[in-house]
Amino acid sequence: MKKYKLSLIIPANNEENNIEKMYQRCKEVLDDNVQYIFVDDGSNDNTLNEIKKLAEIDKDVLGLSFSRNFGKEAAIYCGLNYSKGEYTTIIDCDLQQDPSYILEMLNILDKDKDVDCVCALQKKRKENTILSIIKSIFYRTINSLSENDFENGASDFRTFRNNIKEALLSLKETNRFLKGMFPWIGFNTKYIEYEVKERESGKTKFSFKRLFTYALKGITSFSNKPLLFSLYLGIVSIIISLIYLFININVFDTNKLIVFLLLLLFGLLFMILSILGNYLGSIFDQSKQRPIYILKEEIGNDE
Ligand code: UDP
Ligand code: MG
Repeated sequence: MKKYKLSLIIPANNEENNIEKMYQRCKEVLDDNVQYIFVDDGSNDNTLNEIKKLAEIDKDVLGLSFSRNFGKEAAIYCGLNYSKGEYTTIIDCDLQQDPSYILEMLNILDKDKDVDCVCALQKKRKENTILSIIKSIFYRTINSLSENDFENGASDFRTFRNNIKEALLSLKETNRFLKGMFPWIGFNTKYIEYEVKERESGKTKFSFKRLFTYALKGITSFSNKPLLFSLYLGIVSIIISLIYLFININVFDTNKLIVFLLLLLFGLLFMILSILGNYLGSIFDQSKQRPIYILKEEIGNDE
């Protein structure tokens, strides 16, 4: 088995125009001892063919193609299974994360044996302010709910040693939320700042709706406190209704009272149901014990 200094895991969903550019850019900045793992996450464009073209000319390119779209988290997990390098880097395919930062990451890992992972931290975000505010609210919420520290702006763009790779692989959960897994597994992480570039080509796969459900999954995967939240809410709602009842005891208007109580209680009930439902859904997903991804094709695997 060939030993590599570095394995690059590059998840790709409909990135036909970025595969070759990404590869060329990496070749410009990195040396030759690199394994390229492109994971085609159910693309319906020419992504797979682009990967095949590279694998034909370069034996260090490995292509893994899913039977359908399983999501970026699954693609990364798959890549980890095939990573043979002394270090592993996770990097997006759209060149928003410039591969030249990998050199800085490798430098830190080579010099300081105490650092297990170097993470690129996004300081200035090139996105609209509303999204930025929502993201920082998310980080505040998840930090106050969970026992782990979630660093605001920490990307999945990271380079790490094999101890981290093994730890990530040992987490078999179906609903994967890498941003939470990294703080959960521990180890020593160093952050470097990086600037996010514009996407080379194509468009983002994370719509607002997809980001929202992803964030909800993240919270329920890493904290049980929302379950308690429903208990507090229930108590508060009962107190409010009692106070209301007490105030209106002399001016008794049954209609008003019923409408108020119905609104209040139904609102709370639905909220609690949705919190419970979220956890139930996660348990349901996990209990099926389905694989995290299904491979359709392996390209250029010499084993
Ligand atoms: N990606 C993937 N599967 C998906 C969605 C995205 O493999 O279901 C890949 C995508 O091709 C890219 C990376 O994950 O390489 C980040 O996605 P994107 O650029 O759309 O996210 P953004 O940068 O907008 O957060
Ligand atoms: Mg992107």
